[in-house]
Amino acid sequence: MTWSIPIGTVKGTVIRVHLTFFLFLLWIGGAHYAQGGQEAALKGVAFMLLLFLCVLLHEFGHVFAARRYGVRTPDITLLPIGGVARLERIPEQPSQELIIAAAGPAVNVVIAAVLYLVLGGSLQPEALEPRTAGDNLLSSLLVANVFLVLFNLIPAFPMDGGRMLRALLAYRLGFGRATQIAASIGQGVAFLLGFLGLFGNPMLLFIAVFVYLGAASEAHAVQMRQVSQGMLVSDAMVTRFESLSPLSRIEDAVQCLIHTTQHEFPIVDGAGVLRGILTRDDMIRALRDQGPETSVTEVMQRDIPTVHRLQSLENALRLLQEKRLPAIAVTDNAGQLVGLVTPENIGETMMVLAARPERRATSPRGAPDRTRSPWG
Ligand SMILES: [Zn+2]
Repeated sequence: MTWSIPIGTVKGTVIRVHLTFFLFLLWIGGAHYAQGGQEAALKGVAFMLLLFLCVLLHEFGHVFAARRYGVRTPDITLLPIGGVARLERIPEQPSQELIIAAAGPAVNVVIAAVLYLVLGGSLQPEALEPRTAGDNLLSSLLVANVFLVLFNLIPAFPMDGGRMLRALLAYRLGFGRATQIAASIGQGVAFLLGFLGLFGNPMLLFIAVFVYLGAASEAHAVQMRQVSQGMLVSDAMVTRFESLSPLSRIEDAVQCLIHTTQHEFPIVDGAGVLRGILTRDDMIRALRDQGPETSVTEVMQRDIPTVHRLQSLENALRLLQEKRLPAIAVTDNAGQLVGLVTPENIGETMMVLAARPERRATSPRGAPDRTRSPWG
């Protein structure tokens, strides 16, 4: 349950609207109605819808820039606090990230410029007063777009300004070091916003928390990726696990679940080839809805990607993160299943590596260190 409703698809990107967004519109309508009756309510809601159209166009700025570099965007979600475009990955090439990040605010600059021309090059000063939003719809929209540009240029993750800052730093310092510095600056900005929020607008406190968490999670994701560079899948895979046969029933799987600490069970045929993976959640759901006699092949996930054990761990990690999979299957030369890579055991590998000081200086296995400073 994601609490968001798909409202359409543009060039393979699903546009979703979060349920809280509808509550927000109701609230806006209600607040305006209380002040100025039905007409004010309609104007207030119309303004919000137009504003969020601008936010949506901003997100499509990112989406279309990313497409130029072969990066797909499965979905965009509109929330009351703004839009989130979930890019499949962030290119590590500084120029590419810079252009993708800048493309969003650039859309709002264009919208503001067009509105300015439409308004005949003049701006009514009342438009700057938020309470009258809707009275001068276009003027208010122009001000809102300028605000969107400034807000997004705050140099902190997850704002576009944070990504642009990292890209600029990465030209000289490499992706990893640039992320560290950008994340630190972002957290500094978050403290500053929080401090201002304490004495002024409480909305700033909310934004401060948002920025602080964004900076921390970006630093963590990059650290994960950096650890995996230069490592092989076989360095991090789980090799001792129970597997099930295609003839197994849910009842057998439940026994395995109880007697091991595993949460994902591979279904392997007589030739040692993976047929699918049964997760704990799927298993419990099948037990409840279909009964213990159900065949595991009916409820297993079939589209599990496989990687060779000597492939780079970075690829496996990228697949896990992009597709949100329970596990990736690892095979040998004969195509037989020899291991699994799960988010949990990647996390353990990271903890082990972090505790080994000698590994910090150089990349494992002497792989080329693209970033100069692989550790955060
Ligand atoms: Zn943006």
